[in-house]
Amino acid sequence: MYRTHTCGEIRASHAGQTVTLAGWVNRRRDHGGVAFFDLRDRSGVVQITINPDLPKEILDAVANVRFEWVLQIEGFVQKRPAGNENPNMATGEIEIIAKHITILNPAKTLPFMVSSDADLPDENMRLKYRYLDLRRERLTNNMVLRHKVVKFMRDYLDKQGFIEIETPIMFKATPEGARDYLVPSRLFPGQFYALPQSPQQLKQLLMVSGMDKYFQIARCFRDEDLRGDRQPEFTQLDLEMSFVHRDDVLDLVEGLFTEMIPAVAPHKKLYSSPWPKFSYKEVLERFGSDKPDLRFGMELVDVTDILAKSEFKVFQSALEAGGAIKCIVAPKSAEMSRKELDALTEVAKSFGAKGMPYLAVTAEGAKGSAAKFFKEEELTALKEKSGAGVGDLIVFASDARAIVNKTLGGLRLWFRDKLDLADKTMMAFAWVVDFPFFAFNEETQAWESEHHPFTMPKMADLPKFDSNPAEVYSEAYDMVCNGYETASGSIRIHRRDIQMKMFQMLGLSEEDIQAKFGHMLEAFEYGAPPHGGMAPGIDRLVMLLADEPNIREVIAFPKNQNGRDVMADAPSGVEPKQLKELKIKFE
Ligand code: ASP
Repeated sequence: MYRTHTCGEIRASHAGQTVTLAGWVNRRRDHGGVAFFDLRDRSGVVQITINPDLPKEILDAVANVRFEWVLQIEGFVQKRPAGNENPNMATGEIEIIAKHITILNPAKTLPFMVSSDADLPDENMRLKYRYLDLRRERLTNNMVLRHKVVKFMRDYLDKQGFIEIETPIMFKATPEGARDYLVPSRLFPGQFYALPQSPQQLKQLLMVSGMDKYFQIARCFRDEDLRGDRQPEFTQLDLEMSFVHRDDVLDLVEGLFTEMIPAVAPHKKLYSSPWPKFSYKEVLERFGSDKPDLRFGMELVDVTDILAKSEFKVFQSALEAGGAIKCIVAPKSAEMSRKELDALTEVAKSFGAKGMPYLAVTAEGAKGSAAKFFKEEELTALKEKSGAGVGDLIVFASDARAIVNKTLGGLRLWFRDKLDLADKTMMAFAWVVDFPFFAFNEETQAWESEHHPFTMPKMADLPKFDSNPAEVYSEAYDMVCNGYETASGSIRIHRRDIQMKMFQMLGLSEEDIQAKFGHMLEAFEYGAPPHGGMAPGIDRLVMLLADEPNIREVIAFPKNQNGRDVMADAPSGVEPKQLKELKIKFE
């Protein structure tokens, strides 16, 4: 037997027992002839005391032991003398007095320390040696948390009557708006499988099969430009249900998360229960984003009516062009320096604004770039409507309504970070519903599906499909949390005629429709039930629960920010023989 116990489980109640442990040397200290090793395994760390009265061959063997050697230790559990306890360690009340030590494997000096997060090396270095980086307590805890999250999901859904079904990884293109990863076929040269961007088609086909309630911890593959915090492959809790309306799906998922958070992350609190539900239009107007962070206020205030007759040119021209004037109030920011305000103006411009008028509310009156243009009654009405008081900064945007919302939404988050306005212990879940069905792509001058092409439009909007696509709304919904989109889903099209119409709207030819989606259309002719579902992202959720800054910290072996696996060096070239078999030639 390698061990009788794990390192992290030994407590004062074990005092007097002889135990055998195995693990890595986390730290070593030598004190007046006595050596102290902190021995670590996944469960935690325990102090081993090596007294000088041990046989010489053991003492000689341990003399060379360094960080990260792998040892087996048999020892006697002893309560630490009063005053020597370490309250910061779960095992801090006891120590193990070593009787016998076996060196299971020595270790070279590691490229970086793993026993502490001080001096974290550069991320590529951490990823190159990811198997060592994962030894860190923080990363180990992240893996354990991720396991608990997934286990909770499985157990909860099982109790609700769902079954877990695996769907193929080698399949046909399933569009979610990204490029596909392709797998060349040796048996059918010149033909390719596509890795699924999601199991969307397959889960819908499972509904046609009568599976009723399906879920899967599903890997999704999307070949996207690696903007921001994205991975080429990521994991979703993919689920689908038959005979449901929108709120049946939302209630199920809300119930799952509401029970899960206290169970897996008791230090987190929920913003509200039930969760707020906003229309897409409302979130844009109030928060300037379709994934609002509700952990703080600073909502956008529409002041178009108050400033309708403003003498300020910038406002006038925006209104003449049919735009709007809105503002946000940044608390205690009236004293921001000129330099900071200039920097902030650049931030505003990055969201499309032409400038960033502001007013600092001071005891001596309003100050700022545009102060002289404001009439007394405008100022009074402005303060009353926006709630701004002495010491606050009012920041304006005036332009087309969409630009105004985007700009102030962006600035709102800038202030959140600068002023530390968001409660880090809060998980502010909310629903966003009633999305537009189509999005117009200015580049291609074509309509695209806002969610994906399998989403059901609002039935009442069907007649507007051809005449006014911009006014068609969909049965899609997003779950958002702390400024992130944490899930999206929809009630699906289950009628062939509507699905066909959708593909045609997207500009697909009859042949393309048949070649790409013929199997779906055919399936809809054999009694497809009404159905819907969604897919919460697991990486981002665990990231939020673990208070990590990016999803790479909660994925065991992530790609780096350029989409490379720097540990195994992938992607990489392959043998000419393999290419020949696949009949692939490079020019
Ligand atoms: N397949 C969708 C996605 O990956 C989610 C869903 O509609 O269920 O975003």
